[in-house]
Amino acid sequence: MPVTIALSKGRIFDETLPLLAAAGIAPSENPDTSRKLIIGTNRADVRLVIVRASDTPTYVEYGAADLGIAGKDVLAEHGGAGLYQPLDLGIAACRMMVAVPEGFDYAAAVRTGARLRVATKYMRAAREHFAAKGVHVDLIKLYGSMELAPLVGLADVIVDLVSSGNTLRANRLVAVEEIAKISARLIVNQAALKLKRAELQPVIDAFAGAVATHA
Ligand code: ATP
Ligand code: MG
Repeated sequence: MPVTIALSKGRIFDETLPLLAAAGIAPSENPDTSRKLIIGTNRADVRLVIVRASDTPTYVEYGAADLGIAGKDVLAEHGGAGLYQPLDLGIAACRMMVAVPEGFDYAAAVRTGARLRVATKYMRAAREHFAAKGVHVDLIKLYGSMELAPLVGLADVIVDLVSSGNTLRANRLVAVEEIAKISARLIVNQAALKLKRAELQPVIDAFAGAVATHA
């Protein structure tokens, strides 16, 4: 039975290439330059489907893909239903942080029990984080460029992913609190793992071996 792997282009695809290579899989095209959404590989029985990062768990949950690679941020928002998550791949690493404009006294705002307006793409993670701290928040859902929100008065703080910190610095924001360390995980459709164990297990094992070697 053929194997379908869901990947998003950009950093996930790029950092997954060495893992695919370890499993003997070489994509026949690069999704960053090709417009194709289904990409073949050197193996007739393995194909890649190119999806938006936040859609990866959905494709795997419904079995449209057997395997996928998704950030922990995306998996937390999705909830993980129907997914087996056997491996932290250690790729696409970053941190989910609370960030504020330079000069905003976050500690004082928290201490005095101020109600905070929080702009984020990560509603679930943000809601849980502030609820655990006992901070009252109004969450404002955004789909892109959270950094802009506090600069134009849309929000007091943001919850966003930070890797180098360059985007925060360029917009005079500072990270004040870590919510979670993020990296990408392998996800597997639970039913597919039972029905296609012979095809999927070697790929999972090869990924695990490659992760152990590079750790
Ligand atoms: P889209 O760009 O389609 O809105 P996205 O920003 O989630 O979605 P990517 O930019 O491809 O998609 O990021 C994919 C994954 O890479 C994220 O879900 C996250 O796990 C990880 N990642 C690592 N570093 C960063 C970063 N600095 N910013 C955003 N995502 C990052
Ligand atoms: Mg992006």
